[in-house]
Amino acid sequence: MKYILSLDQGTTSCRSIIFDQQGRIVSIGQKEFRQIYPQPGWVEHDPIEIWNTQLQTIRDALQAAFLKFSDIAAIGITNQRETTVVWDKKTGQPVCNAIVWQDRRTASLCDKLKAEGLESYIRQNTGLVADAYFSATKLHWILEHFPHVRQKAQAGQVLFGTIDSWLIWNLTKGWLHVTDYSNASRTMLYNIHKLEWDATLLEYFNIPRAMLPEVCSSAGILEIADKSLFEGAEIPIAGVAGDQQAALFGHACFQAGMAKNTYGTGCFLLKHTGKTPVRSKHGLITTIAWGIDQQIEYALEGSVFIAGAAVQWLRDGLKLIDHAADSEYFASKVPHSEGVYVVPAFAGLGTPYWDMYARGAIFGLTRGTTKAHLIRATLESLAFQTRDVLDAMTKDDGLALKTLRVDGGAAANNLLMQFQADILGVEVQRPEVIETAARGAAFLAGAGIGLWTKDQIAQLWKVETTFRPQMNSYEAEKRYHGWQEAVRRTMNWSKIVQ
Ligand code: ADP
Repeated sequence: MKYILSLDQGTTSCRSIIFDQQGRIVSIGQKEFRQIYPQPGWVEHDPIEIWNTQLQTIRDALQAAFLKFSDIAAIGITNQRETTVVWDKKTGQPVCNAIVWQDRRTASLCDKLKAEGLESYIRQNTGLVADAYFSATKLHWILEHFPHVRQKAQAGQVLFGTIDSWLIWNLTKGWLHVTDYSNASRTMLYNIHKLEWDATLLEYFNIPRAMLPEVCSSAGILEIADKSLFEGAEIPIAGVAGDQQAALFGHACFQAGMAKNTYGTGCFLLKHTGKTPVRSKHGLITTIAWGIDQQIEYALEGSVFIAGAAVQWLRDGLKLIDHAADSEYFASKVPHSEGVYVVPAFAGLGTPYWDMYARGAIFGLTRGTTKAHLIRATLESLAFQTRDVLDAMTKDDGLALKTLRVDGGAAANNLLMQFQADILGVEVQRPEVIETAARGAAFLAGAGIGLWTKDQIAQLWKVETTFRPQMNSYEAEKRYHGWQEAVRRTMNWSKIVQ
């Protein structure tokens, strides 16, 4: 029996999950690490702590599975994306804490580059919107604030990487400085058409080319991890992808038109669009899904800021429920939200509205409205927002969605999943294994060592529940129209009270 070790380096915790040859979970090691908030809007992680925590979870997972390192056939890596690490090549010491994707310290730099007219260049060449979220402005900030670093970086003595690069560099004891196509495409420095670091952007951000990692295949043997870390076992690092792209792979969405949605704090939707990138006209990001053996596949990506977080608000803000899962019980007490709409624009509205000033609203209250209606309408808002993003994707790529594959905490909610199928008019499929990002990294690594073909991976992906549309389409469209109207009024109201 062969086992794959998947390293899932997330925003709040490190996890190591061991998968068997059938793609089943054998064991999990998980540990949280510190979130550092030096100033409002700033978010940092200690890269050394991340590495040590990751190593600890590897040992925990191995122990829990009663396995030896020599039982592990390959390592796959998936990671929080965009988070920026800069370290000294000789000492291995980071020059400062990692700047996390959520960090907004470079927002004014993004305003400046928009004013200077760089926005459309960025969109055309990197597929991204000009935002502080991506690595480029974070790296620029580090180079500006630690002046001695730039000189060393020019000589290749100081290195930049996203978390995947940092882990691989440590796993190979400083031998390999690489990233994969999917992670590179989130830096806002990588040209996703020419498949190279973009010279114009490097010049604009004044970033030395010598500090950037080599961009490698998302599946395939990159290097053997340092033996001394694994009791002498020689384990190849054979799969790498950013978390959302790994989840797309973990759902076996290998063909154009296939899509997945992760229902976590927010929603992350990715739709595979094939071998040519689709430029969005509807506020989506164009991203590299993965690159394997020089063959690049692309995806459209959209995000919803507040999804599961709206359920947290029901729990912590309104105190209507004790646990997120109770939302299903209360919502099922009424057959219908009876005209009540909750628009959870607590932090503005993302795709396709892009209104950062919008604030939440509730519509359609009557004397008969109960707690159950409010809870139900809140759950329904997750499904409506998902439809907003998927409709934008269909407008961009012209490919009708056949099924939606789902994962994330709120995908456990059967009522929500049924309503999602009803509102989309397509099947919603929830798989047996919902650790989809980690599983995707394991699949990439397994493919990388020749353990599985893509067809075999597609066979390993198994549905636990299929939710089929039950609502008639007239009713579904009527309800969705009500949602669109509620959003329109929310945005208008936010303008009035600004
Ligand atoms: P993240 O990775 O963003 O932390 P998770 O995938 O762990 O998110 O999912 C947690 C989110 O899912 C929380 O916001 C929580 O409110 C929501 N959630 C968890 N279980 C349920 C449920 N049964 N019904 C609705 N929402 C849920």
